[in-house]
Amino acid sequence: MQNEIGKVLACEKEIRRRVAELAAEIAEEYQGKPLTVIVIANGALFFGSDLLRLIPLKLQLDILAISSYIGTHSSDRITVRSQLKVDIRNRHVLVIDDIFDTGKTLQSVMDDLEEQDPVDIRTCVLLEKRFSGQIGRRPDYAGFAIGNEFVVGYGLDYDEHYRNLPYIAVLSEHMELRSCADPVS
Ligand code: 5GP
Ligand code: MG
Repeated sequence: MQNEIGKVLACEKEIRRRVAELAAEIAEEYQGKPLTVIVIANGALFFGSDLLRLIPLKLQLDILAISSYIGTHSSDRITVRSQLKVDIRNRHVLVIDDIFDTGKTLQSVMDDLEEQDPVDIRTCVLLEKRFSGQIGRRPDYAGFAIGNEFVVGYGLDYDEHYRNLPYIAVLSEHMELRSCADPVS
């Protein structure tokens, strides 16, 4: 397996440190507010569970199962595989996803959630890609900025493999696509 994994962009220690920083920012922002957190599965399960355990607030948690990628290519068809169990009316909503790529997934999720009358919706991603042509509002919170490359680990998959890697790395056959290997923060 290891020879399919390319450069490590964030190791366990870096992830832990950054997740703790994000948790502190989020905890401060939502102090005293009715908060509902929606984790996008499967990709954000690891990130979401580590992040939320560091946020000492009373909050509601729900999960939306969504898929939009086929292999290493973003697809135009966003498939929602589950429905919310909680009512988000009059609540502050924080959507947690693994990565902001084209922006289509988060845009589509936000459009759906807006119709359910929350007070506001913010988004938090582990990784934010930066390239031209991305759509929608940029994430409110982002762990690391990366280039336009295909990454796996810490929840992110390649055809459902590699989610359990404890670090974030580029798939080796995609290393030549790397434009900015090092995370900014
Ligand atoms: P978007 O709709 O922003 O193009 O893509 C969002 C979804 O595509 C993410 O939630 C993630 O599941 C998947 N995705 C985008 N880029 C990557 C990547 O580099 N690696 C992996 N494993 N998934 C990605
Ligand atoms: Mg995903």
